[in-house]
Amino acid sequence: MTRIVEASAYLIDIEVETLRTDAVQSFVKQETVFVDLVTDDGNTGTGYSYTIGTGGTSVLALLREHLIPRLLDHGGADATLVERLWFDLFASTRATTVGAITSLALAAIDTALWDLRCKRAGEPLWRLAGGFRQEVPLYDTEGGWLHLSPDELVRGALDARAAGWPGVKLKVGKERVEQDVERLRAVREAVGQGFDIMVDANQSMTAAEARRRAAAFEPLGLSWFEEPLPADDVAGHAALARSTSIPVAVGESLYSVGQFREYLARGAASIVQVDVARVGGITPWLKVAHLAETFNVHVCPHFLMELHVSLVAAIPNGRYVEHIPQLRAVTRGQMQIRDGHAVAPDVPGLGIDWNPDAIDARRRA
Ligand code: MG
Repeated sequence: MTRIVEASAYLIDIEVETLRTDAVQSFVKQETVFVDLVTDDGNTGTGYSYTIGTGGTSVLALLREHLIPRLLDHGGADATLVERLWFDLFASTRATTVGAITSLALAAIDTALWDLRCKRAGEPLWRLAGGFRQEVPLYDTEGGWLHLSPDELVRGALDARAAGWPGVKLKVGKERVEQDVERLRAVREAVGQGFDIMVDANQSMTAAEARRRAAAFEPLGLSWFEEPLPADDVAGHAALARSTSIPVAVGESLYSVGQFREYLARGAASIVQVDVARVGGITPWLKVAHLAETFNVHVCPHFLMELHVSLVAAIPNGRYVEHIPQLRAVTRGQMQIRDGHAVAPDVPGLGIDWNPDAIDARRRA
């Protein structure tokens, strides 16, 4: 038994590195909620979770007032019982589950427990969580935001290709279908074939509009059509997936393993984009990834490249990591990129080298 003897949660704001817009929102700042744990054998674990602008204080309140005290009850919980702790904490929040705030709070604790587990074992996350391959393909989203001009999109895609990256993602959902097509065609003509182009509508379309745009996009050879519809419309995604040859990608707005099961069982997800923070941590993330494997579906997680690099590297059906750097202001090292691939860190723990001074300077609560 290894008891948790100290546990704390706090919130910082991390500025965005560049303007990021899509069809429904602008990413203003990353609210980042941390959990630090210390065990009686002197080990430490740091986990985190995030929002792209609102709700961070609610996550923090749930942690401070309800979840963290449970970790410290009765002389401290056994930090090695990671599944048990997730199960018990989830059960203790039944009044507010399944829900975004609860899943984000559980993720901050669960990632801290995995950091501890990996450090105690002396293993990096990508090995302890499965160990499939250390380097995973990386695609760029940072050059594909909706406010960028077609020329800027082309420049971003050509830069990515020149750097050896296998693909880019472009936001769609302009007012008129022709505008989307013009932007996508400009990029396809510039990069040629043999390069992945993904598109993302951020849940902005009606079923009819998504069907119309998918038909217009088909000649462009897209690798996936992401979040065309509201995330709770499983039937709509299933119908769209049947009506188009473009793979339908979902998952960044799902908050439980069961929601993924529903999507997969109904043929509504051709690509699974499970987000380790939004689904409640590494423990449920791995369950979703293995579930997807049984449906012969690839996992291309949403955002959080610094953590997802190790998780995609852990599983056989990991296909891509999304390039959106967001932790450089609060870390001492950067995620390694080699020949268009992200390299999972080989140090014990989550492999994120936090900068405590930079974190303290951004502390809000
Ligand atoms: Mg997306």
